[in-house]
Amino acid sequence: MRLKNYFLPTLRENPSEAEVVSHKYMLRAGMIRKVAAGIYNYLPAGLKVIKKVENIVRKYMNEAGAIEVLMPAVVPAELWMESGRWNVYGKELLRLKDRHDRDFCIGPTHEEVVTDIVRNEVKSYKQLPLNLYQIQTKFRDEVRPRFGLMRGREFIMKDAYSFDVDDAGAEASYQKMYDAYCKIFEACGLKYKVVEADSGAIGGSFSHEFMVTADTGEDFVISCTKCDFAANIEKAPVLDEGVVPDEPEKKSEIVTTENIKRVVDVAEYLGIPPHKHVKTLIVKGDNKFFAILIRGDRELNLVKVKNFFNLSYVEFANEDEILRITGGPVGFSGPKGLKIPIYADYEIKYMKNFVLGINEKDKHQINANLGRDFDVDGFGDFRNAVPGDKCARCGEGEYQITKGIEVGHIFKLGTKYSKAMNAYYLDKDGKQKLMVMGCYGIGIGRTAAAAIEQNHDEKGIIWPVQLAPFEVVVVPINTNSEDVVNLSETVYLRLQKEGVDVLIDDRDERAGVKFNDADLVGYPLRINVGAKSLSQGNVEIFIRKTGEIVTVKKEDVIDKTL
Ligand code: ATP
Ligand code: MG
Ligand code: MG
Ligand code: MG
Repeated sequence: MRLKNYFLPTLRENPSEAEVVSHKYMLRAGMIRKVAAGIYNYLPAGLKVIKKVENIVRKYMNEAGAIEVLMPAVVPAELWMESGRWNVYGKELLRLKDRHDRDFCIGPTHEEVVTDIVRNEVKSYKQLPLNLYQIQTKFRDEVRPRFGLMRGREFIMKDAYSFDVDDAGAEASYQKMYDAYCKIFEACGLKYKVVEADSGAIGGSFSHEFMVTADTGEDFVISCTKCDFAANIEKAPVLDEGVVPDEPEKKSEIVTTENIKRVVDVAEYLGIPPHKHVKTLIVKGDNKFFAILIRGDRELNLVKVKNFFNLSYVEFANEDEILRITGGPVGFSGPKGLKIPIYADYEIKYMKNFVLGINEKDKHQINANLGRDFDVDGFGDFRNAVPGDKCARCGEGEYQITKGIEVGHIFKLGTKYSKAMNAYYLDKDGKQKLMVMGCYGIGIGRTAAAAIEQNHDEKGIIWPVQLAPFEVVVVPINTNSEDVVNLSETVYLRLQKEGVDVLIDDRDERAGVKFNDADLVGYPLRINVGAKSLSQGNVEIFIRKTGEIVTVKKEDVIDKTL
């Protein structure tokens, strides 16, 4: 590419709107321009980086056996109603109507759409496992879009969805994605950590986030100095006020259903009028904790909830019983038009004989004291930990807390969507069974931004070569010297022929301007062709990362660059 004919509008001044380095440099290096809050134009150099990230992602997804598709950005509400998410997803979901007044949304994620594809096309166990992925534009109406591509409202995501015949299959698919993600972030030249996120209270963790370590990250990662424990604190905040039983000192114990003599009706306790149509009530403690009370003819049962920040998705075991709830705002939900009220504003502090379900049939925990002995979301004891505390996992190392950027997230979904949307297959014996799913996301733009957060200096970006908009820039320093221009051209054309992604800065600008731009945009190598060194038969190769200048014979420049 010739810079004269290219479109690379660099900025000298720091844009005031940018708070973090990646946002600042993406604007200054002419990669992106803002259109509205959280909505950007990708200019050519930015788009090239995005495509490079996409291609790395594509390569390892394909290698792991995932198959690329492209689903629509605009999704009919019916699918979201089927899954139950339409009524509970809240304001992050951009909803719109078409000319016939039909409801649609712009997909923030595509579980519903992909489940619809698969339930229609896949009938037999012989067609499974299947992993479909896409690289596509998402929309989430984030409360605080900021930091450029890092937290946009419109952003590009790679999202993959696996379908398996059983749990073991789903776990194998999960592991494949885990491994592929490691390869992807390594290939992007990033330093990252895999952390546990939102794992279950019983059984192993089923969700991992891929965190790029950077001071500007919005996530806090707690990890051990010795063992490989690492988790996202966001998912396990400090509970300064949990549910505390009447006798806080009393030890909690696990009892079976028959052994529960007296349970407190939380609704009664809090003065919530029981809903006449439903047997399910949800009680939430002011952004701190909520419990689900299942009111049935049988015993009352409080079920542990995994994500206690927000409610958004309610998974039903049947029409009456809630199985699981995951993030999002509080609202109403229910299958088949049934409205389940979700109470949001109650803080439970003290409760007699507090009983918790422990995700084990007919077993409950009595005298549970959340702050003390209940592992609210399966993260172990570190909720109140401070750096330097002994690690609960290995008992040897110490906790440390670092900041990270969540660039990828893999999740074992189970049958949440297949059940809600009737995604069945026929097994070997002709029996109908639910498909077991997993979902796997990577923020493409966020990955590019994270690479800048990790690789920059005061002059600009220092791209890992894999992601650089151009791998090499050839800079003719004295554009009035015929020798300089000719050699620059030769070097440029030859590198191009060798398959190098090369740019020539053929603008009529002073060397200083060209160098500053090159440092800002962050090409890994810059070849300086100047009259002075050329008179001695030399050119210079400048290495952006180390600042080193290597003087080479002009005949050797191609070999040395390669
Ligand atoms: P966050 O916690 O940062 O809001 P998330 O957990 O909501 O992210 P996921 O639903 O796990 O995001 O989506 C998968 C991936 O998509 C994330 O790991 C991230 O890389 C990317 N992503 C999510 N939201 C945004 C956004 N607003 N802008 C850019 N990338 C995003
Ligand atoms: Mg989010
Ligand atoms: Mg997250
Ligand atoms: Mg996530």
